[in-house]
Formats: sequence, structure tokens, C-alpha cells
Amino acid sequence: MQFLPAELIKKKRNGQNHTEAEIDFLIQSYTRNEIPDYQMSAWLMAVYFQGLDKEETLFLTKSMINSGQVVEFKNVPEFKVDKHSTGGVGDKTSLILGPIVAAAGIPVPMISGRGLGHTGGTLDKLESIPGFNTQLTLEEYIKNIELHKIAFIGQTKEICPADKKIYALRDVTSTVESIPLICASIMSKKLAEGIDGLVLDVKFGTGAFMKEKAKAEELALRLMNIARGYGKKVTAILSNMNQPLGRFAGNSLEVFECLEIMKGKTSLNKHGVDAYHDTRELSLVLSAHMMLLTGKYQNFEQAYDKAKEVLNNGKALEKFYELCKIHSADIQKFSIMKPAYEIKAEESGYLASFDAEKIGVSLIQLKAGRSHKDDVLDLQSGIEFHFKVGDKVTKGETVFSLYGSNKKLFPIAEELLKSCYKISLQTPAKEDLIYKVIQ
Ligand code: URA
Repeated sequence: MQFLPAELIKKKRNGQNHTEAEIDFLIQSYTRNEIPDYQMSAWLMAVYFQGLDKEETLFLTKSMINSGQVVEFKNVPEFKVDKHSTGGVGDKTSLILGPIVAAAGIPVPMISGRGLGHTGGTLDKLESIPGFNTQLTLEEYIKNIELHKIAFIGQTKEICPADKKIYALRDVTSTVESIPLICASIMSKKLAEGIDGLVLDVKFGTGAFMKEKAKAEELALRLMNIARGYGKKVTAILSNMNQPLGRFAGNSLEVFECLEIMKGKTSLNKHGVDAYHDTRELSLVLSAHMMLLTGKYQNFEQAYDKAKEVLNNGKALEKFYELCKIHSADIQKFSIMKPAYEIKAEESGYLASFDAEKIGVSLIQLKAGRSHKDDVLDLQSGIEFHFKVGDKVTKGETVFSLYGSNKKLFPIAEELLKSCYKISLQTPAKEDLIYKVIQ
């Protein structure tokens, strides 16, 4: 061995900087199974506490890209664009914006992830559609972009295998919330997937990895810096994750919500608030920024109007059905369960705040996310949110409905869910969905 893993762990634990060769050794050896999970976990935890500087983060990103191939779309001359979110609860926009942008004629190659920490992952959501194959070969992925302008795959043994392994390990070792690890994970996937432009949905708030706006902005700037260093056009949107996005969280439930939105439906509560509003709006804004990066639209408004047109005229839904077909899924067989358990308000007032991270943890308790690397998910399990921040709540009304096949898990999740929202007598200050756009 060129280096001793324990010595490299000690170096980082003691706050020293790594050389490019040291980082590359760790990443390539781990990818080839020559370093065990326990040593990689220790190194990731050392990075979590000691950080990596800008240069080390670039070395890590580069090494992770080089663990596999970089996709080249030789037969797709058009500008190719993708979006990546830093992770949230109920964050399902990829399933809507991918079809919107592709239906507008723009190729969207997407390498997505599974659930990470308390946040959900696009691949798990898609796999709740019977037959949906997220393990396309590289050739199939390229062909689908050529023919259909859209395809979703995960990290594979060919593309970003290092991220595939490290991502799964971070998920269960509490080493997610680290700016350099997030930067390398996101950018290695995005730089390997063959795009020309990228929109970053950088979340802040209780359900985000970065709780503070300032930290989210720092993450956005570091991600943008790496993207620009590789010659990519990039926009970052700082979006609010102080409450779950939309009406549902949980894999099949989120697909259901996206289908409803693409079918033009709303979900009005008794206060006349549409529970789909934030999911729809964020999907449209992100789509419009993706479309704007291509240079085909003169300004944001024009791109937004086009995104809305494609959503409203059913073209995005058609594209989603096409996507299901090319991934061997049978959308006709897709269904969700009925809600099986209700959690009721214990007092009256206004819904003042959510702890969205706790909601993410209760989703793991319901088996919508993993607590161990090899956990099998209950793709039907999840939570329906009956109120948004600011809504009036009356004692005895259902705040959360729980879904899933293992009834024993409901009381366990209930304990946590009861402590994850606050009711107050005053109306809380309204928070914007989108705080800032950085171009
Ligand atoms: N999304 C990723 O792909 N990786 C992270 O580390 C966080 C969010």
C-alpha cells in the first residue's frame, strides 16, 4: 500500500491537510474494496469535524469523478442541463422539472441518489413505480437522452462508483452535513453526467443539511465555484426547507403528488390553501432557470411561461409516461395505500413551525428511508401533511396521516412527530419559498 489508511485518518483527525495523492489513494482504494467501511467511516468523521479546504475539496471531487467514466453525448449537440438539490423532506421536484424541461425540447441527463440521512432520494421514489429500472447501462442512458431527452440513473460501477459507496456510508454514519463532502458528492455526479449547465437547489432550514441561510449560501458558492472551474454554466437557488415540501413525504406518495400536479390537480385544505402549491411553484422556478441557462430564452419570465405552458398542456405528464416506459415501468400498476393512522392536534392555534429534520427521521422509522446500508424500504410508507405553517389548527384535527404496511411502526413515529411542530396563538411571520437566486 502506498499509504497507511490509519495514518491518513490520524492526519485529518489532527487537522492537517491532505495532498492530492493521499486523497486519491483513499478514494480509489475504497472504491476497489481495499479499504474497509470502518476506516472510511473514521476518515469521513474526521473530515466532518476538521473540514477540507478548497484545494482538498477539488482533489476529492476530481478523484471521485475519476473513479468512473465521464459521459459524452456525441450525438446530442444541444445544451444539456440538470438540477441538483442539496436534499430536503418531501423534495420531489426532479420528477416534475425533468419532464417539463425535456418536454420543452431540452435534454436532461440526470444522475440521482437514494435517500441520504433524513432526506429522500429520487431513485427510491422512482422505484415505487412497478418495474421502474434505475440501473440502466451507460449505453441505454445515452440512447435515452438521444431519443427521449430524459433519463434517470444512479451512480453505477461505470459513473461515480466512489460516490455510490461513500454516499451509502455517509447515509448511515452521520457524516452527511459537511460542506466539502456534499460538494464532492454532488459535483462528481454532475460533472460525470455530461451536462453543459446546472441549477442547484440549495436548501436551508430545519429540514436541510444547512440550517442557516449563511451556511447554505457558502455551500452554494462553493458548488458554483467547482462547476465554473469545469466550464459549466450554473445558477443556485436558495430555497426554504423549514417545512416539508408539498402534501406528502415518502416514496410512492411523492410520486403520486407529482402525478397529481402534472395532471393539473390541486389539493385545497379547508383554508383554501393548495397543499401542492410549493412543490408546483419550486418545480416551475427551477425548470425556468434550467431553461434560461440554455440561452434559448431572453429572460426568466419567458422561460417560466414556457415551463408553465408545458406543465398545463399535459406535455410534461406525457413525457413522464414516456420516461416510465423507457425505464420499463408500468405506470398503470402504480397505486398508493390508504392512510392507516392519524395524529391529531392537542391544542388549537396557528401552526407556527415544523422541525422538518425530525419529520425526516420519523420517515426512517416508518422505513421510507434507511437506518442501515442494506435496509429494504417500504416504498408505500410515508406521511401526509394536513397543515402548512401559518394555517389555523383546531384541537382534534388531523395534523399528520401515516401510511405503510407495518402498523407497529406508527406509534413509534407518532412519538417523534408529536414533538416536531409547534402551535402558537399568534400568526407566524410568513417565509418566502425562495430566498435568493445566485447567477
Ligand atoms: N446530494 C448529494 O448527492 N450528495 C450530498 O452529499 C448531499 C445531497
